[in-house]
Amino acid sequence: MKSSQELKLKGIPVSPGIVISPCKVIKRKKIVINERILRPQEVETELKKFQDGLSRLKKILWELKDETHEENLRKLVDVQLSILADPEVVKGVESIIRDRRRNAESAIKTVFAHIKETLMKQESYYLRERGREIEQLGEDLILVINDSYEKPDLSFEGIIVSESLSLDDALRLVKSTVKGVVTERGGRTEHSAIILRNFKIPAVFGIDRITKLVDDGDQIVMDGGKGMVIVNPMESTYQRYFLIKSDFEKYEQGLSSEKDLPAITTDGKEIVVYANIDIPEEVEELTKLGKYGIGLFRTEMIFQDFAHDEERQVEIYSYMADKVYPHSVTIRAFDIGGDKVYAGYSEDNPFLGLRGIRILLEEQEIFEKQIRAVIRANKRGNIRFMLPMVSMVEEIKEAKKIFIRSKKLLEKEYGSVNQPRFGIMVEIPSAALLMEHLSELVDFVSIGTNDLTQYTLAVDRKNYHVAKIFSHLHPSVLKLIKYTSDACKERNVLVASCGEMSADPYGVVLLVGLGVDEISCPTARIPEIKSLIRRISLHEAEAIAAQAIKKENVKEVKDLIHGYLNKVMPELFQFYE
Ligand code: PEP
Ligand code: MG
Repeated sequence: MKSSQELKLKGIPVSPGIVISPCKVIKRKKIVINERILRPQEVETELKKFQDGLSRLKKILWELKDETHEENLRKLVDVQLSILADPEVVKGVESIIRDRRRNAESAIKTVFAHIKETLMKQESYYLRERGREIEQLGEDLILVINDSYEKPDLSFEGIIVSESLSLDDALRLVKSTVKGVVTERGGRTEHSAIILRNFKIPAVFGIDRITKLVDDGDQIVMDGGKGMVIVNPMESTYQRYFLIKSDFEKYEQGLSSEKDLPAITTDGKEIVVYANIDIPEEVEELTKLGKYGIGLFRTEMIFQDFAHDEERQVEIYSYMADKVYPHSVTIRAFDIGGDKVYAGYSEDNPFLGLRGIRILLEEQEIFEKQIRAVIRANKRGNIRFMLPMVSMVEEIKEAKKIFIRSKKLLEKEYGSVNQPRFGIMVEIPSAALLMEHLSELVDFVSIGTNDLTQYTLAVDRKNYHVAKIFSHLHPSVLKLIKYTSDACKERNVLVASCGEMSADPYGVVLLVGLGVDEISCPTARIPEIKSLIRRISLHEAEAIAAQAIKKENVKEVKDLIHGYLNKVMPELFQFYE
């Protein structure tokens, strides 16, 4: 430790849990690339060097896969292997070596940096984090080529501190004695983060310069739920965290004892709690937790690779539907366009431009393939299909025509098929306000509170300058949810919610009180959200919601709910930020 003072650092809460332990700093080898122009006679040797490196890294990954027994983790290694086998990557590097006569390391750097850059421009968190993983894979390849690749030594019973955590580090870590992880870089939806949460290894990412601030053996207190890291803790800090640790353990035991109980309010209303899934491999995590359905599968993550591949889509959707049967899986049509994944297209106001259903109605070939795959996968009748970014009746009518036409064509090809239930997301105020008409056309709606907040408050959801005023608790957003829910209730249309509000305890009280039937949130939050619902009374939640929509601003809404949450589930304020 460079100083003896207690140092409190705040990062990204990645995996909850308290660890009080000495740390070990893992430093990855620095990559130094000397770009070199090859003499013509060197080109073949350099191509061979690249091919050898590629084979050696693949061998390392195959070995890792052999040592890994969990099927979903093995699949993650497959993703890395498929990147290394991707003709665009291999040919890209080879052509830079051959045509631009650059050495292998600089050619690898160029190709991987290009892929990373493309992914980092995407709005999707998931794809940006894939970008960081790809950069790391490129670095590993360069290290292998230079004979400097080595596996980090993870035989340590304490907290590992490192610049970042690669997928293979994470896979090795789950088999080690490591108790917690702190990194400088990385985000919540990186594969390594998902693995740590899966295996309940507490982790905090994004602590700037942490590898420089601590030395091997320094004592650290880390709180994965609040994203706090305390270096060189004072005696009083130790004492406090020993207590929090023991309380958290009791709290988790309590949650797991309620695991198989339904989410029923104290006065008897059952709320269905489902999961939001961003990556197909998360389904394993969900099935380990228990028997749950999927309230939102964001298909954008498979768009790039499989938008034109109906068969592969059938496989993915069928796999998910089988895994969660008899519960439903809700497949959202590709929410592409604007500044999400859509090749070579850009707009001045992407969130107000071609996005979601607007683009799918223009790109009907892609839309039809997805619809066909969804219908074909619905063998057991538990698939629901929903449209994103709906703002008017005509869009639903037009999409439904394509849906019905596809179904008829499939009946001719395959005999009988099961028609999935058909729904829309409510993400735009005009959709909420037209609900008496829209609800006539659908079997269910799912309120996407992230976009509903963005479009109601005119606050760009990813612009950090206005992040302070982005809140799904704003009374105007609540009024739109109420309008939606009331109009759907009149026509017996199921109302679900799937934005971040569903994972926010304040939001959950309101959603229940506003009449939402189904709440879909990230898998890791399901036990708490269920447990919270089991402590809420529908009657009280309705009274709170009725008052909340009359409030002036977010603060008043929060103040109104805070006391109630503190009464029914005070632990929430103790363990999470
Ligand atoms: C939403 O808008 O609330 C939603 C769930 O969709 P996404 O976050 O994928 O835009
Ligand atoms: Mg949305």
